Amino acid sequence: MTRIAVIGMGGTIAMAPSAAGGVVPAFDAAELIAAVPGLAELDLEITTCGLRSLPSPSIGFGDLVALAGAVRAEIDAGAAGVVVTHGTDTIEETALFLDLTVDTEVPVVVTGAMRAPTSAGADGPANLYAAIRVAAAPAARGLGALVVMSDEVHGARFVRKGHTSSTAAFGSPGFGPMGLLVEGEPRLRGVPRVPLTLPASPAVENLRVGLITVALGDDGELLRHAGGVCDGIVIAGLGAGHVPAAMVPAVAEFAAHVPVVLSSRTGSGSVLRQTYGYPGSERDLLDRGLVHAGFLDPAKARVLLLLLLADGAERERIVAAFEHYR
Ligand code: ASP
Repeated sequence: MTRIAVIGMGGTIAMAPSAAGGVVPAFDAAELIAAVPGLAELDLEITTCGLRSLPSPSIGFGDLVALAGAVRAEIDAGAAGVVVTHGTDTIEETALFLDLTVDTEVPVVVTGAMRAPTSAGADGPANLYAAIRVAAAPAARGLGALVVMSDEVHGARFVRKGHTSSTAAFGSPGFGPMGLLVEGEPRLRGVPRVPLTLPASPAVENLRVGLITVALGDDGELLRHAGGVCDGIVIAGLGAGHVPAAMVPAVAEFAAHVPVVLSSRTGSGSVLRQTYGYPGSERDLLDRGLVHAGFLDPAKARVLLLLLLADGAERERIVAAFEHYR
């Protein structure tokens, strides 16, 4: 029988009210599965394992190294698909981490919920059902890690959380979903996984990649204070990859010593390469040695840079890796 492995990491999908107020992680993966209608009719063997029980803002890179290992172990043990239940706040970073570190044709699907199981209209059971259907779908093979929410299937490199509370919080801005579920059946028309695999090295825990979001009037002082403790820096630039002229000296100073990746804070689209020519423009910053993030958003660019640094990558390999996302 086809086996789907479900690995629990915590998140709203697994939360229940606490005595102190507010919901907190409470249910394990087996309890989540028990609450999903319709699984018995699917002719699938579903196994569960609880790896973490955390709200996803508290997931760390060490947890992701453990998760990548657990996913790999399930695949090596014959799972036809792997589902990870996870908080939605950082689901897109976890999905990209798995995409980059688990080189497999086997579908790896991350899902969560915007409403806790005890809320009216909880979306967890429907999301988990859909994720299991996608994980079991032959058409999902080779697409890399996926995020399934609200009957939509998103590629790890495209997906973003774009709303604080809506059950329609997830999208793939500028690209659109790789598929959807119709009456519970996956309809997929995805693009293959990027051919880039990096080790899920425990060294990620000892490295720090800073994420600096640029804003109007930024003079670079914040970067100057924070940059010194960073092994690499991601700039979430204005527009198509810009910073104020006053910030350029600080950016250039750091780019001479550590990899500095240029992404955009806009939420969609790629950093440009050759359009603007003023101080602080994308042309100026790339000339000063910044690395082009392509369409990877700042949080995802940070995951990729961290994995590259943990693997000992130097500038040339870092630039080449980001070129996959142009
Ligand atoms: N709001 C979050 C969630 O959807 C909390 C978390 O990310 O754990 O799960």
